[in-house]
Amino acid sequence: MAFGMGVVRGMAITLRHFFDTYTVGQNKQPSAAGDVPARAEATVAGKIPAGMPTELGGIFTSQYPEQKLPVPERFRYIPFLLYEDDGQGERAAFDGIRCTACGICAKVCPPQCIWIVQGKGDDGRPRPVATEFFIDASICMSCGFCAEYCPFDAIKMDHDYEFSSYERHESWVFDIQELLHPVAYHAAIHPADYAREVEETRQKEAAKRQKEAAAAAKAAAAADSSGVDPEEAKRRKAEARQRMLEAKARKEAEGKAGEGGG
Ligand code: SF4
Ligand code: SF4
Repeated sequence: MAFGMGVVRGMAITLRHFFDTYTVGQNKQPSAAGDVPARAEATVAGKIPAGMPTELGGIFTSQYPEQKLPVPERFRYIPFLLYEDDGQGERAAFDGIRCTACGICAKVCPPQCIWIVQGKGDDGRPRPVATEFFIDASICMSCGFCAEYCPFDAIKMDHDYEFSSYERHESWVFDIQELLHPVAYHAAIHPADYAREVEETRQKEAAKRQKEAAAAAKAAAAADSSGVDPEEAKRRKAEARQRMLEAKARKEAEGKAGEGGG
């Protein structure tokens, strides 16, 4: 019975939409002279909320590709990487690129279409930056896992869905230069998400400052009770450590000399 009611309800909705095309939307159809329909104009001008507009009803034709329907903020297509373009902050030393090459996105990517090369310093040690970052867009299924799991907000899903090409290989493998977009681009297409990130960062920094102030107050209180200046205590600790290292080095040298003599 419940199944039958569902079918009836579905048919009623279909019928309503059918009759709407003869009523509400009639005056929004393109004229014979090819005028832009009022409703499509409103859509393009952003007066109608993102996604398929519903409040006006009826049918209309969007003049794609000249006119594009706005997509919802959560719309997701091939991911892109973010860089800070203000030359400030802790990522300034890495050209502002937020990605630290931690590899989490590549691990969680279901079809394994992300390939990352981590940077190395002059001493050969790894640096927290990607020198190469590839995404094979012909394999990416736009699931958004990479953006969801990235701990550094370094990768986000794009709204650009126009990637058609005449071949299926080279032009679909995006390198780091093609993937990089400024943070301002992310803020423009994901305003709510960006505002949440800014607020989270502000709260984290406030908590950090509070913790540092508490630690400083604790050190000052300890210094007051012991009568030793905190800077002086630090200096004494460094000296004691230096003495310990020298004693260790002496002992090792004596041990080697003993082996040589025996
Ligand atoms: S998870 Fe984020 S920071 Fe880590 S490699 Fe991927 S994009 Fe870079
Ligand atoms: S959107 Fe999904 S499939 Fe595409 S790169 Fe990210 S994790 Fe992989």
